[in-house]
This record gives sequence, C-alpha cells and structure tokens, in this order.
Amino acid sequence: MAFLSPISLSHDPPTSLIAPRTIDSTQIFGSKLKSGELQHTQLRLTANSRTTPGLTMSASREPPALTQEHRNNKLETVVETESGTDLFDNLKRRFLSFKKHKYMENLEHYEQLAKNQEPKFMVIACADSRVCPSAILGFQPGESFTIRNIANLVPPFEKGPSETNAALDFSVNTLKVENILVIGHSCCGGIRALMSMEGEGDSSNFIHNWVIHGKNAKLKTKAAASNLNFDQQCKHCEKESINRSLLNLLTYPWIEEKVREGVLSIHGGYYDFVDCTFEKWTMDYKETSLNEEDGKISVKDRLFWC
Ligand SMILES: [Zn+2]
Repeated sequence: MAFLSPISLSHDPPTSLIAPRTIDSTQIFGSKLKSGELQHTQLRLTANSRTTPGLTMSASREPPALTQEHRNNKLETVVETESGTDLFDNLKRRFLSFKKHKYMENLEHYEQLAKNQEPKFMVIACADSRVCPSAILGFQPGESFTIRNIANLVPPFEKGPSETNAALDFSVNTLKVENILVIGHSCCGGIRALMSMEGEGDSSNFIHNWVIHGKNAKLKTKAAASNLNFDQQCKHCEKESINRSLLNLLTYPWIEEKVREGVLSIHGGYYDFVDCTFEKWTMDYKETSLNEEDGKISVKDRLFWC
C-alpha cells in the first residue's frame, strides 16, 4: 500500500490540443470543428427528389446540416459532406464488418449476450470523442457497463440522482460488477472548464453546473500546484479529480458496503493520449479515510503501461 505520490507533470500538452480559456459547449471536447466549418456540411438533394411522388422534405426542427426525406412513410436521414462522402455509408460498412467478423464468428457468445449480461467492469469515462474505453482498452460487448460524462466525474451521494449514479446503482446492485474503474485523460476540456470557472460558475450554464462536482479536486489542485502554470494545474486536476471521484464512490452506502466486504474493487485510470500511456491504480480501502475533512485516498497496485 502507498499513499498517492505527487503527480508527474512532465508532459505538457501541445498547444494545438489545448482548448481555449473561454469554454463553451462547442469547444469543450477540443473539437477542431468551429461553427463556421460546421456550416459547410450540407445536404445535397438528388435532382429528381423534389418531384418524386410521396417524398417531402422536413428540416424545420433539424440543425442546418441535416435534412430528412419522408419516402413512403419511411424516414431516411441523408447526411453528406461537401466532399460527397456519405457518413452513414462508413457506419454501414463498419457495422456489416462487425456482424460478419465478430458477431457471426462468435454467434454462440452473442446469443448468450442477448439473454444476459455479466460485465466484470463498471467504467466511468469522459464523453470526449478521443477517449473511448472500448477503443483504448479493448472492452468487447458484455465486458463493461459504461457511463460517459463530461470530465468522468462521480457526484457525491448527497447531491442526489443523476444519470451517473443511476448507472452505478444498476451495475453495482443488479449486475453486481466486481470492479468500478474511473478513467480520466489528458487535455480534458471539462477539467479545463472547472479550472477556468470563477467561484461556483454560472448557475445557468449546464457545463458549470456539472463540473462543479469536481470542486474539491480544484481546491486541492490550487493548494498543491499554485506554483505551476495553468496547463500544468489542469493536468494535476485531471488526476486529482479521478481520486475525488473514487472517494465519492464510497459515499454511496451500497458501494461502500461491498468494498468493505471485498466483493467490489475501486480503480482509477489515466489515459494520456499525447504520449499514449495508461496509468492504473487501485484504492486501498483499509487505508483510505473519508473521515478527514476532505478525505484521504490510499492506493495500491499502481501500474504504468507505455
Ligand atoms: Zn474529458
């Protein structure tokens, strides 16, 4: 067992991956798509579509890039980029490849999955498009019950219901997973939003209202890393917030009970996509304290994959 050692801050993210200080909903995941670029994604109608009987157009409720065709009471959504690539053609190819090479070749397994699921892991990861747990850790269907939210945060029990703790309830109490793994990552726009907020943030801002769950991690980061520059502080907070989420998991009585009984383990993970490394650690429950003012986590079995 070992108390959490000081966090390594040796790798600064390249500036191209750092979200601007002014955070809004279009910037939070570091997307390169700015609003102006989005406007270039347009529907292209076939020449005869306007005259095809039974075909009408509806676009009033869709964003500018989407227009829908109603054909013989069937709804088809057509999305084409300016280059003419049909985005859904790609998805169709991928799905049919999955069906041929994964599903049909392991039919017995998938038939069993259709009846039941017994995942060993409950994973809480960021919604960021670059950090899909199944892509980086190879989780296959049936192996991980997963919830993804901004900045992979676990709110404390007393904050009441959310989609994250609903998923925790189902996975722990019904599926009886044996492991909860909270995965954070480098260049997290959600953590950057948390670190950029003034005080409690704007109460009408959905993102502020969510990332404020990481307030204790921010306070601890500011206290421990005030001498570092803002980017380094954000990286520190990315790891600190994972540990705050691990501590918050213990505020759920039904999680704490199972961890105490030894039938459930709590783990942290940190995926750095700048240098493609993964760090994993496990909470040492017996040495972890929730009684101190802000809790104190003890960890064991720390691994570093590079
Ligand atoms: Zn993130």
